[in-house]
Amino acid sequence: MTQPNVFVTRRIPDQGLAMIRQACAVTLWEDELPPPYNVLRAEAARADGLLTLLSDRVDAPLLESAPRLKVVSQMAVGFDNIDLAAATARGIPVGHTPGVLTETTADLAFALLMAAARRLPEAERFVHAGKWRTWGPMLLLGQDIHGATLGIVGMGRIGLAVARRAQGFGMRIIYYSRRESDEARALGAEYLPLDEVFAQADFISLHTPLTPETYHLIDDRAFALMKPTAILINTARGGVIDPDALYRALSTGKIAAAALDVTEPEPIPPDSPLLTLDNCLIVPHIGSASVATRTRIAVMAAENLLAGLRGERLPHCANPQVYGQE
Ligand code: NAP
Repeated sequence: MTQPNVFVTRRIPDQGLAMIRQACAVTLWEDELPPPYNVLRAEAARADGLLTLLSDRVDAPLLESAPRLKVVSQMAVGFDNIDLAAATARGIPVGHTPGVLTETTADLAFALLMAAARRLPEAERFVHAGKWRTWGPMLLLGQDIHGATLGIVGMGRIGLAVARRAQGFGMRIIYYSRRESDEARALGAEYLPLDEVFAQADFISLHTPLTPETYHLIDDRAFALMKPTAILINTARGGVIDPDALYRALSTGKIAAAALDVTEPEPIPPDSPLLTLDNCLIVPHIGSASVATRTRIAVMAAENLLAGLRGERLPHCANPQVYGQE
């Protein structure tokens, strides 16, 4: 029997790739950068399955010119790069990898929170520049984490995992999400209107998906409501923050600092004004980047892909409507 054709858009951890190679004829895009759109579209046109990353645009024209395509398996929990409605309309299930990266991403959100609060990147640059001359009573004063108020926007899996970490630091936890969460209540978190979260929080951590509703949710209006000492953490998606408004807020002292794992656009252009600011910590979308988690994500993405190629229900499907469900 001929093996299904699969296009894998980047080298992924070996364990996942080996599973796919066992069952499929694999075309692997070896470059560090994503395949250009026209390459992705040409490969999709002859593929039975696609294994994609966040940086691959899977839109309606691509799906329309892929007559054999049975499954798209995204190696990520988010899938805003994929036109889900177009995939559903064509009966193509889209796999994703929820849950497995929750704790690792929450670890990074907390690491960013702590690093920004205690100004770790600035402090490290200071030492490396040979400026450390003595113990300074006013040197690099930051903000306390213990006892502070953490505002979580989007109380889903990662939001809850961040809230659990905050409990250990004795933080007050307030949050806004589309609905009140029983799990959050059990953690002692207080459900408040979004503007109240902006106004009361010392730290604001974003955990919504990127949707038309959350696009530029954090804009000039939101910054105007925040405390001048507030620290904003984004491990969700870059597009949730208006980057121009963020620059204005950070450079005029509307808020104290920001720590970003995700940016708009991504990667951040080298001439972005945000890179000139000492109070803006930016890391290159490494939320789920631990060895163990990335291996698990790759295996999960391979399992989704192989299930779709066999015509079976995907273990983790982003568009279950494709199976005739709500
Ligand atoms: P999740 O469990 O689906 O949680 C998202 C939460 O946001 C849900 O509670 C959802 O409410 C809420 N939400 C949706 N729209 C909202 C809105 N307009 N206003 C307020 N809350 C809203 O997803 P997750 O696993 O926690 O992941 C969250 C996001 O993190 C992902 O979508 C992804 O973009 C990002 N992420 C980033 C990394 C990274 O490497 N930095 C890693 C993993 C994930 P409902 O339940 O009512 O929809």
